[in-house]
Amino acid sequence: KVEKLKEFKDLPAMTTDGEKSMLAANIGTPNDVEGALKNGAEGIGLFRTEFLYMNRNNFPTEEEQFEAYKYVAEKMNGKPVTIRTLDIGGDKKLPYLNMPDEMNPFLGYRAIRLCLDEKEMFKTQLRALLRASAYGNILIMYPMISSVVEVRKANAILNEVKEELDAKDIKYDKNIKVGVMIEIPSAAVTADIIAKEVDFFSIGTNDLCQYTLAVDRMNEKIKDYYKPFNLAILRLIKNVIDASHKEGIFTAMCGEMAGDPLTTVILLGLGLDEFSMSASSIPTIKNIIRNVSKKKAQEFAKMVMEMSTPDEIEEASRKFLNEIT
Ligand code: PEP
Ligand code: MG
Repeated sequence: KVEKLKEFKDLPAMTTDGEKSMLAANIGTPNDVEGALKNGAEGIGLFRTEFLYMNRNNFPTEEEQFEAYKYVAEKMNGKPVTIRTLDIGGDKKLPYLNMPDEMNPFLGYRAIRLCLDEKEMFKTQLRALLRASAYGNILIMYPMISSVVEVRKANAILNEVKEELDAKDIKYDKNIKVGVMIEIPSAAVTADIIAKEVDFFSIGTNDLCQYTLAVDRMNEKIKDYYKPFNLAILRLIKNVIDASHKEGIFTAMCGEMAGDPLTTVILLGLGLDEFSMSASSIPTIKNIIRNVSKKKAQEFAKMVMEMSTPDEIEEASRKFLNEIT
């Protein structure tokens, strides 16, 4: 079956009635690009940049970062590469950065919150990203946005960096797209407001589930409460997609849910524009998309949005998937 799926590598992720979706890969290091391309990724939907900062005793230099981002952009050869700014904190600490001990690190000083405080560190990363954008199709993405306020603050810093580069005549993509992860419920609920000030959304279902359902995503004991099929999650996802389309921007998803075969038809039906996942899942998801019509997916999504429990939705999804593949 896997061999057969390999044939799909160069076929588009197109429904039977001709609607195309974008299938992209999540990567953690520049070396992962090869696997992404081998599996037919049409872009990188999430490049986690933490690897540059971890397992070392000092900040990565602008040059080191520039080389890593440029490498990926060039290898992807014009295909979109969405690079997420540093998402440290929570369970991930840096020995060379003063980070407080916290009672609830996942509700604490992490990601964009930390970057807005550590301005020089943030500016170094943004400068490296902008410079690399001259060599490919880079998009910048901020993690852990809870409201439009952080978007404005981060963009103000980005503009400062752009002005500094302009003053020195350093090249970068002047039309670079800037988007945000939607992974905190407050951002999902206020997506209509945020959509007016960004170029795209990417839904991070790993954290969105954790925060919406109040379930630690690492805690085995309560894993039964961690249900992406929960109607609360699906309603938030629908709200985010609808809000983005109203403003003429796109919504991607880069959490684990995007690579789960049981959710593909629902997400397609809700109008998700881009699915980003671990590269090895791409052929399976593409196979599903190529075997369903957008119209049927919309009907199915509408039907499950009327159901009341995660188990009902999961069972209906399983049945539907068996029928089409
Ligand atoms: C997410 O939260 O869904 C996500 C993609 O980010 P991470 O798993 O890196 O927190
Ligand atoms: Mg996250």
